[in-house]
This record gives sequence, structure tokens and C-alpha cells, in this order.
Amino acid sequence: MASPDVLPGAVLPEVGTPTALAGAMADQHSDIPPRISVKHLRKEFDAKPSPLVALDDFSLDIAEGEFICVLGPSGCGKSTALRIIAGLEKCTAGQLTISAPREASRPSSAMVFQEHSLFPWLTVMQNVTYGLEMRGIAKKERVAAAEPFLKMVGLAKFRDHYPHQLSGGMKQRVSLARAFVIRPDILLMDEPFAALDAQNKLILQEELLRLWEADRKTIVFITHAIDEALALSDRIVIMTASPGRIKEVIPVTFARPRHVAELRADPKFGELYLAIWRVLEDEVRAARARTE
Ligand code: ADP
Ligand code: MG
Repeated sequence: MASPDVLPGAVLPEVGTPTALAGAMADQHSDIPPRISVKHLRKEFDAKPSPLVALDDFSLDIAEGEFICVLGPSGCGKSTALRIIAGLEKCTAGQLTISAPREASRPSSAMVFQEHSLFPWLTVMQNVTYGLEMRGIAKKERVAAAEPFLKMVGLAKFRDHYPHQLSGGMKQRVSLARAFVIRPDILLMDEPFAALDAQNKLILQEELLRLWEADRKTIVFITHAIDEALALSDRIVIMTASPGRIKEVIPVTFARPRHVAELRADPKFGELYLAIWRVLEDEVRAARARTE
């Protein structure tokens, strides 16, 4: 496997079985237990005439401080996998292990959902500081902690607005600030930038990278955008069409710190984009065929 500071070539790493690739990655960190370990996850939902298998034999080890992006066709079980990791959903079979956080005082994980999930009766500032309030932090400190993050998402002037006074993209940016402000050790993000306009998306991708570079949280980030996965992650997990399995895990070894806009101009970026699309395309077509 290429070392992390070497740019990848045009071709994908040799296609092995997903378990072989996941195993190779685990070997790299063999002295450190993975921060998140999922083994043989299966998730069935009740459905008639037979249960719907959303995930099947989904196994992945994620190292402390790793930035993982998950790509897969719509309906393949990405959100389900993330919700299981977040403890919001139980798996039907399999095993999830999350090792202890680096700093015991930090909350272990925060989730940013695909759709904004703000409290409509709270202002922007109250929404962003809600998690801190739950942890008993005084108002003055909460506000001081939230201000830089509100600024980062470009909403400092909207602190006293209510969610219904904001656009969809603005609401999503409030959700991001709310997740960042509690400084979780693991950040689980479900297509967090999908609703944003292209310019705000670029700015927030850059901000996310700067935040991550500063304190290397473990991030699991679901996206449907190959370019986003390439710009952000250390490894891209490509899932099969439903039931979701891991089809391939691709290391992304562009040097860091990365600059999202500049990276797109790198010819290797285009080559890798195409190679990933070739892996993904069959699954997207299979998923479409199933719903047509
Ligand atoms: P993705 O996030 O990849 O688009 P999901 O994880 O949301 O996919 O869904 C995977 C499959 O499981 C889909 O077929 C979806 O309809 C189904 N599903 C998800 N949540 C539920 C639920 N609570 N009850 C029944 N089926 C569900
Ligand atoms: Mg989803």
C-alpha cells in the first residue's frame, strides 16, 4: 500500500476482496486498536413479504484520527450504517466496537444529519449552544465557544434568528456549527454539505479540513460526491447497491494540508475521480434498475 504522503497513481490499488483491503489497513495500525470497528454488520428492516436487508456483512476498521468518506448509490445503507455507529439504530447481527476517547471529558461523538435537525423554537445561538447547555456550561462560556463556529459557517449576524427565518443551506450550516462546538472526538456526518450551494460548500469543506487538521478527530463522512470524498478523506469506502456491503476501500494519499479548489486542478485528481466512478457506476446502475 502506498505511504500516506505519496500521491496516488492513475490506477486504483489492486482490487482485492473488501476484507483483504480492510485487513491490510488494520495491519498498518496493528499496534493501535481501531477507534471504530464494525464486523459483519447486518441490518434488516421489517417489510412485507420478507425483511428488507439494508446492510449485509459490512466490516470496517477506522483508525483514531482517520477521515473516512463513504460513497454508494442511493438506498444502499449508508445512513443506516452511520446510525448504527452513532448508536441510534441497532444492528440485526454483527459487532460494533468503539474504543475509549482520547480525552475522557469530551463527548465521544456528534452526528450531523442529512437534513437539518434544528429545534424550531430555539434561535440559531440557542440551537448551536444546546449541547453545551446540556453539559451544564454557563451561558457566557457557551456563547463565547459558539461565536467562532457561527463565524466559520458565515452566520454570526443570524444568531438571534429562528430556523424558519433561514434558508435550507443556512439551517444546515447551523447544524454543522452545533456539531463542531461540542468538540466531539468522533464526528459522524451524513451528506452534511449536500444541500449547500457550490460556493458555501467549498468554503465549508476547507473549514472542515482546517478543523480536522488542527485536532484530528475521527470523521466518518457520507457523501454522494466523488470530488468531495477525494478532497477530504484518507480513505474512500465504496459500497455496493442494496444490501450494502463494502465493495472497495481506496486510499486517498494527496498530501496534506489540502486545498480543495487547488486539488481539483491536479491531473491525478481527475484520474482518480474517473477510476472511482468506474467502481461506483455498476452499483448506481444496479440500484437504479431495482427501483425502476
Ligand atoms: P442511503 O443512506 O444509502 O441512501 P439508507 O441507509 O437510508 O440508504 O436506507 C437503506 C435501505 O433501508 C433503503 O432501502 C431504505 O428504504 C431502508 N430503510 C432505511 N431506514 C428504514 C426504516 N427505518 N424502516 C424501514 N426501512 C428502512
Ligand atoms: Mg442516506
